[in-house]
Amino acid sequence: MLIEEQEYLDFDNVLIKPKRSTLNSRKNVTLTRTFNTKNSKLEVEGIPIIAANMDSVGTFEMAKSLAQFQIFTAIHKFYEIEEWENFAKENPEILKYVFVTIGSSDTEIEKLQNILQKIPEIRMICVDIANGYSEHFLNQVKKVRALFPDKVLMAGNVVTYEITEELILSGVDIVKIGIGPGSVCTTRKMTGVGVPQLSATIECADAAHGLGGLVCTDGGCVNVGDISKAFGAGADFVMLGGMLSAHKESNGEIIFRNGEQFMAFYGMSSSKSMKKHYGKVNDYRASEGKEVLLPYRGEVKHTVQEILGGIRSTCTYVGADKLKHLPKRTTFIKVSRQINTVYNNFERT
Ligand code: 5GP
Repeated sequence: MLIEEQEYLDFDNVLIKPKRSTLNSRKNVTLTRTFNTKNSKLEVEGIPIIAANMDSVGTFEMAKSLAQFQIFTAIHKFYEIEEWENFAKENPEILKYVFVTIGSSDTEIEKLQNILQKIPEIRMICVDIANGYSEHFLNQVKKVRALFPDKVLMAGNVVTYEITEELILSGVDIVKIGIGPGSVCTTRKMTGVGVPQLSATIECADAAHGLGGLVCTDGGCVNVGDISKAFGAGADFVMLGGMLSAHKESNGEIIFRNGEQFMAFYGMSSSKSMKKHYGKVNDYRASEGKEVLLPYRGEVKHTVQEILGGIRSTCTYVGADKLKHLPKRTTFIKVSRQINTVYNNFERT
């Protein structure tokens, strides 16, 4: 047994210190970024936020709405090939903003091959496994890279330096960071495993950038300010689940309760998800996700406008005219209280 004495921080342990700025308006802040990917050599351009590959977030409808803002979507892995073909035929201009997701099985590789053969315009792949430390994950990543040398490859999830380096050296372009921070994730409760997301992002971004790779911080953003903190910490991309859930584009059923509208949101390892997609929860598996019922929020474009406005404002407070410069302009301060919650239960809606 070993105890590390270093303090690991989460988004709510810090605030960003304001700095002298010559920027007069949020309008003057550029949020789009252009990345050259190390292994695929492809260029990726857009606002580096990615809708999570959860089945009520990474939908085709979400991709259509978010692409209007040049925001990306990791499409969930449960669409059939015919559905992909229809989507591609009707929305050719959106394909540059989507990732095809697969997990660890060989049948998923076959499905990926099939999709990319039929729709070669798709440029990006996401290999998503809850535990990116397992041997078969690394093998899966190497297989996918060998099959598709010129597609952008995002893979995870991990939270530490060495494995980030190993993934980049094994062909990954964007390493996905996060074990246990998610809004509907119960991994930390069920297993006691995890690393606070801000520190994990700082550590893995440093490792990846040293090798010319990129990182996507995945999970744990609950306020717009957390997204800015993630970018300030060095994340190239930020993946959002909960913040984009319960919208029209989530494809969920609207549930009426006492005259109010709600929509379900659930973790991809929750019993609800496992039963929906696999018919059962295997005996040897515990569910590591939960289901929640959230107030329905209408079209996602309103939420996106709020998110982008918030990030622009952060950039103005610290004098970053481009999102790219935010890490350079970020000084985090450790705080014991970040938000005044005194009237939280009295909000007028
Ligand atoms: P959020 O933005 O909601 O805080 O986090 C979204 C992320 O949570 C997803 O991208 C994914 O990495 C993670 N996640 C989604 N479902 C589950 C689950 O059932 N269990 C765990 N451990 N993580 C999940």
